[in-house]
Amino acid sequence: MPVTPPGTDPATAAARLVNVRARIAHAAAIARREAGDITLVAVSKTHPAEAIAPLIAAGQRVFGENRVQEAQAKWPELRDRHPDIALHLVGQLQSNKADEAVALFDCIHSLDRPSLLTALARAMDKAGRRVPCFVQVNIGAEDQKGGCAIADLPALLTQARGADLPLAGLMCVPPAGIEPAPFFALLDKLAVDHGLTGAGLSMGMSDDFETAILMGATHVRVGSALFGARG
Ligand SMILES: *Cc1c(COP(=O)(O)O)cnc(C)c1O
Repeated sequence: MPVTPPGTDPATAAARLVNVRARIAHAAAIARREAGDITLVAVSKTHPAEAIAPLIAAGQRVFGENRVQEAQAKWPELRDRHPDIALHLVGQLQSNKADEAVALFDCIHSLDRPSLLTALARAMDKAGRRVPCFVQVNIGAEDQKGGCAIADLPALLTQARGADLPLAGLMCVPPAGIEPAPFFALLDKLAVDHGLTGAGLSMGMSDDFETAILMGATHVRVGSALFGARG
C-alpha cells in the first residue's frame, strides 16, 4: 500500500478539522463567547493543494499563507473552484510585494512599519480595493521577530487612520517556550488603550489557540493541528 503523506488523507484532514472546531467551541463556551465570533484561519503554508482540498471539502473557507509567491502558485486554481474562500496573509511582507499582496489576499495580518503601510495604502488606492490589515505587535520585544514595537504602535495607528487603511485589529506571536497568556492579555489591553475596542485580535496558533480564545482572540491561526507537521 502506498504511504499517504500526513495531511493528504481526506478522512484525517476532516477529522482534524472537526477536532480543532470542537476545541474552539469548548474554549469559547468557557469564555462565555460565541464560537461563531472566532474565525479559524487554516494556515496552509508549505502544504500542497492536494493537502488543502480535503479541508475545503470539509467546509473550511478561511486559509492563511505566509509567502506571496507560494500563495500565487497554489491558490488561483483552488479559488476558481471555490470563490467563497478567503485568503489571509500571516507572514512578513516586503513593501515591494504590496501590489501583489493587495491583489491576492482578503486580509493582511502583518502590517508592522510605516514604509509597508505607505506601500499598502498606495497599492490599495491603485487597485481600488481596501484590504483589512491587522497591525502586528512585537509583543515580547524580541529582536528577531516581526511586528512593531509597542512604543511605535500609536504612530502607526495614526498613520493608518490618516491613510484610510481599514484596520482589522492587532496581531501577535508571543515568545516561544513560555506561558503565552500574559502576552495575549497585553495585546487585548493595547487594543483597548488605543481605541480599537470591538476590533479583532489575531492571536493563538496550534499550541495555544484555546488560551488565546480565553483572552479574547477573534482570529486563531492554526497550521500543524490541521495539516500535520510541516516538512
Ligand atoms: C505558521 C504560522 C502559524 C501557524 O502555526 P502552527 O503552529 O502550525 O499552528 C500561525 N501564525 C503565523 C504568523 C505563522 O507563520
